[in-house]
Amino acid sequence: MSRRIGYILTSERNSKLLSRSYHRQRFAQCQLLKKAICTSSFYIQTTIDYNLVSYQKRLLSSTSMSDRQREIHRLEHIRNVGVFAHVDAGKTTVTERMLALAGIVQRAGSVDTGNTVTDFLPQERERGITIQSAAISFGWKWHNKPYNDKNPIDDEVTIHLIDTPGHVDFSVEVNRSVAVLDAAVLVVDAVAGVQAQTETVWRAITRPSMNNHESRHHHIGMNASHEPLSCIAFVNKMDKIGCNFGFALSTLKNKLPGANPVAIQVPLFQVGNTSESKGKLPNNIIAVPSSDLQMKTLSSGHFVGVIDLLEMRAIVWPDTTSSQVSDVEECIPTVYPLLDTTTKDPLYADSQVVDAAIHARHDLVASLADVDESMEEYFLMEDDPSNFELRTAIRNATLSKKILPVMTGAALRGKGVEPLLDAMADFLPSPLDRKPPALISKVQDKSPKGDDSKIKFGHPLHPYLLALAFKVVHMKNRGGSGDGRVVFARIYSGQISSRDSLIVTSPPLPGEKPKKPLSERVGGMLELMGGSFNNLKDAVCYSGDVCALVGLKNVTTGDTIMLANNHDSGKGKKDKRKENQSDEEYEIPRGDICLAGVGSPKPVLTVRLEAESSEHQSKLTDVLNLLSVEDPSLKVEETGSTTLVSGLGELHIEIIVDRIRREHGLEVWIGKPSVAYREGLRVEVETAGLVNYDRTVGSTRMQASIHLRLQPVRKDETTSETYSIPMDPIVKLSTKVRSFLGFSDTNISEEQMSQTSEVANALISGCRGAMKRGPIGAYEMANITCYVEEIDADGGLSALNALPGVLRAASSTILASLLNENKSSCSTLEPIMSVEISVPVDMVGTVLSDLTTRRGTVGDVIMGDSSEVHSKAMVHGSVPLSEILGYANSLRSITAGEGSFSAEYEGHAPFD
Ligand code: GDP
Ligand code: MG
Repeated sequence: MSRRIGYILTSERNSKLLSRSYHRQRFAQCQLLKKAICTSSFYIQTTIDYNLVSYQKRLLSSTSMSDRQREIHRLEHIRNVGVFAHVDAGKTTVTERMLALAGIVQRAGSVDTGNTVTDFLPQERERGITIQSAAISFGWKWHNKPYNDKNPIDDEVTIHLIDTPGHVDFSVEVNRSVAVLDAAVLVVDAVAGVQAQTETVWRAITRPSMNNHESRHHHIGMNASHEPLSCIAFVNKMDKIGCNFGFALSTLKNKLPGANPVAIQVPLFQVGNTSESKGKLPNNIIAVPSSDLQMKTLSSGHFVGVIDLLEMRAIVWPDTTSSQVSDVEECIPTVYPLLDTTTKDPLYADSQVVDAAIHARHDLVASLADVDESMEEYFLMEDDPSNFELRTAIRNATLSKKILPVMTGAALRGKGVEPLLDAMADFLPSPLDRKPPALISKVQDKSPKGDDSKIKFGHPLHPYLLALAFKVVHMKNRGGSGDGRVVFARIYSGQISSRDSLIVTSPPLPGEKPKKPLSERVGGMLELMGGSFNNLKDAVCYSGDVCALVGLKNVTTGDTIMLANNHDSGKGKKDKRKENQSDEEYEIPRGDICLAGVGSPKPVLTVRLEAESSEHQSKLTDVLNLLSVEDPSLKVEETGSTTLVSGLGELHIEIIVDRIRREHGLEVWIGKPSVAYREGLRVEVETAGLVNYDRTVGSTRMQASIHLRLQPVRKDETTSETYSIPMDPIVKLSTKVRSFLGFSDTNISEEQMSQTSEVANALISGCRGAMKRGPIGAYEMANITCYVEEIDADGGLSALNALPGVLRAASSTILASLLNENKSSCSTLEPIMSVEISVPVDMVGTVLSDLTTRRGTVGDVIMGDSSEVHSKAMVHGSVPLSEILGYANSLRSITAGEGSFSAEYEGHAPFD
């Protein structure tokens, strides 16, 4: 954001200074800056100062820059980016190409030969899918600089690439990486366009607060929202038969809510023979603008490059269709300017490419006119903005999420990724352009009140450490002396060094007391730069960056990391470089806060695992413990001799089992998978007033009477969603009960009462416990609120205080019998998966009738034109999870191996 002011100041030289549009633009940008960073006026002031400096950067030696200015300069050159895609769209291939271009790997690895850097688990390499979010950092300098030398980002940016999983069975990981990213690259298949999982990840990118399946933060009144990510789309696989840039663009527009895709490139194809003259754009190259949805012209052509509409030049890669993966040196593009840079006259007469470029640039300005005033002015005046102004408008609109710039290429052929990296550096936000992360207070109603005149805790300029552990993995020979545990963390503010003492806090779960913060000591760090993960002994990592910490024993995914003595007193150790800055500028973090963390959905599928012998069984327990630290969506339950493992789908569990066998050399037997049913209530039910509970255990009399009412929680009636993510039961105490228990404050939450009163805790946990087993199949209840209307006991509160266990027993017994009496008003809820099945057109009938026998409902069927390129049909539908276990095999057999599918948990629905 701050850079934009830099742009304007530098544009002064461009004599635009006094124009009306300049002032308007500047005003709008300042407003935006205020909104987007939402920090102090102080900060805005500094930003402007900085950009004055940035404008004169060449005149100033670095020593004359203040620490603050240097810090802002550093932060402006950081990009925390994740690559997102539907499985198989080419996320890993794009990532590998980036790493090859950045010089990290000699040649881009290929998922097809299984030698990629980012998919580092053997299973990932074999399956060609990415399961773990691995972070890799690299430096990037312009590959194709803008022609005029005015861009403030003229030196190297550091890109932290967080590799995100493509398979929806791992959507938790997608959400987790969204929490620590500033920006996204969305890879889309040029043949298929937007696919089901593209829509899923788009939801995660644009509505980060909505994908908290567990609703645990909601439950205790926490606002766990992250700011949506700025995004660039990359239409990949343009070398494939049937690719269609225009089609892909239209699916981006039609299927991604709120996306405003704007093409900033036009694909170039080579047709027929060349009559090439050196240094000139070959005349057998044609542009295929996105308006050409049919691409009839291309029956014999193939993709060779793109028009860069911002600089009006053609970027053409050498023809490497023959080889699968090409070395970076063999694949350096040639750049052909299309217009004279000063006169803007076409350099080629009667060129289809130049015409297409001029048209597409006009369309680009037209689309930007809707979101940018200066572009509107150019559009209305039918004038062409300078490249620099166009670039500025695109950056502004991307940062404010008003547009989705769309680029294209074929990563496997080494085409299109350099401009993508340039655009990531140019258009995507730096940590300074983002809001500080959402903080929650661990005790309700004590949410930290920000002092708006100060720099917020978590802002990259704040000196105290705030970091989020977003990924925990075990890397052999890497984790120092411990078990190999490596914690990937995003540092929002402050700094972290080897051997620092940390305070680690976890966000509380409903029904649980907040855990005590733990003390930990950093053993060392791994080098993320270059992806070799070398051990660094004495390392420091600063705000805005991502780091890999070793030697931490108790940190799990989603934990908040602060420095010991950092908070409360405010006397803690600060970022050393900021030690002499006065504390008055900063909001001092108070105790009992943590980052919103990342919720993971409750598992929907359980299998029983058994090891060969009891000796192996205990080893299995250890292995599963390790795995569940890495993956919070994996739940492990030990009951006597059996181990139950629950996950988010068949593939999820398959991979866990695979890892147990392969990485840990343990043979396990797997039982039949069982589905996680829940039970719900259809109508409100109530006890007949106070119900008495009276038992004598030994010589102790246990007596209390309770009046309960159970109410089904209806999903928001306004949403059209058929299936709902089950919400855990909620217990509420009436005013009468509260005053009986001695709570006069009506605002105090059940959570707080549980924490302060043992009697209240017994009552609430008794009710909760009874709702863990529904009356039909003893499945956990969901979407239900239990109101405790009234309680009483012989001897009143003091008798209860003497024996709080009475209320636990009474409430759970009374609630359980209320549920049993009303069994007919309850229903079983079963998990429903949304499926996307791709099959050859002539097999659609078979697949549809098979789906019907599986109690599936079919949404839409998109039939490809069998004479044309999309020869496969796409079937969308919803099927109960219990009915599609083992579907991969049956689909293979009914379609003779031609069908493929993906399944995503959608929610639970009543069974009957
Ligand atoms: P991911 O699942 O999104 O990580 O996708 P991958 O990178 O694993 O790629 C899936 C498949 O698509 C692999 O077989 C790749 O070789 C192939 N692929 C990736 N990029 C391209 C491309 O640009 N052109 C073609 N033709 N195939 C590609
Ligand atoms: Mg992959």
